Amino acid sequence: MSKPPPLPSVEALLFEEPLYAKYELAEDLEDVRILYGFVATLEKDYTVDAFCPYCERATTFRIPGISITRGAEWNNIRERFAYDCMEIICTRVKRHKIRYWFRVDCMTVMKVGQYPSLADIAIEETRQKYSAVLRGENWSEFYKAIGLAAHGEGIGSFVYLRRVFERLIKSRFNEFKQIEGWEETSFDRLRMDEKIKFLNGHLPQYLVSNRKIYSIFSAGLHDLSNEECLRFFEIGKRTIIVILEEDLKKHNELCARKELSEAIAKFSP
Ligand SMILES: [Zn+2]
Repeated sequence: MSKPPPLPSVEALLFEEPLYAKYELAEDLEDVRILYGFVATLEKDYTVDAFCPYCERATTFRIPGISITRGAEWNNIRERFAYDCMEIICTRVKRHKIRYWFRVDCMTVMKVGQYPSLADIAIEETRQKYSAVLRGENWSEFYKAIGLAAHGEGIGSFVYLRRVFERLIKSRFNEFKQIEGWEETSFDRLRMDEKIKFLNGHLPQYLVSNRKIYSIFSAGLHDLSNEECLRFFEIGKRTIIVILEEDLKKHNELCARKELSEAIAKFSP
């Protein structure tokens, strides 16, 4: 079997990586120390900022680490084989906990269990943040993409992400087509990269200048393996979120203006 990839970070293992993906732990033991609570001091545990599904908002979690003895167990950490259990604790409300189970084998780690699931947390986080601008089919398919990726289904999640991405691009076109006098049929005939170039000025600059992202989005499914799709998932999801952030900003501005107009209308000196 080929060597597993290096663990990106403990934060990613807890909040981004799906179950059953195996990672190599770095020789410098930095991540191992976090996992086994060897960076925590008596007063302060290692912490990570993330979304708490119980508070329904971003918060900070304490990571007390997996409990092992500081003698033989820690000294033999490089040869450790164990199913280790860990919980992280919300600093806003102590009873809010996320539990994890890891299969640790000679400096490799695989997440084999988590509650609440990664999908539940990620879906709740997205729903909370973007409910005003992510509706209907876009929401239900974004939701499916997150759930499938959390269960290691790369290709399925990629298909849904791509559908959402294409719809968001099309809705930008629709939003401006009258003002700009654009023609629908000629737009529909364009390739994805040409569509994005066409919408330059009406899409986040980040998207227009990162051509590689949409070349992956428009790659044929037969060219991508399940693993490649899974590796692309976070980038694809964040790309969609960049568009949603812009939509949300616009939405909030409109709401604020509307509220102000209403307040002005009601005001009588
Ligand atoms: Zn909480």
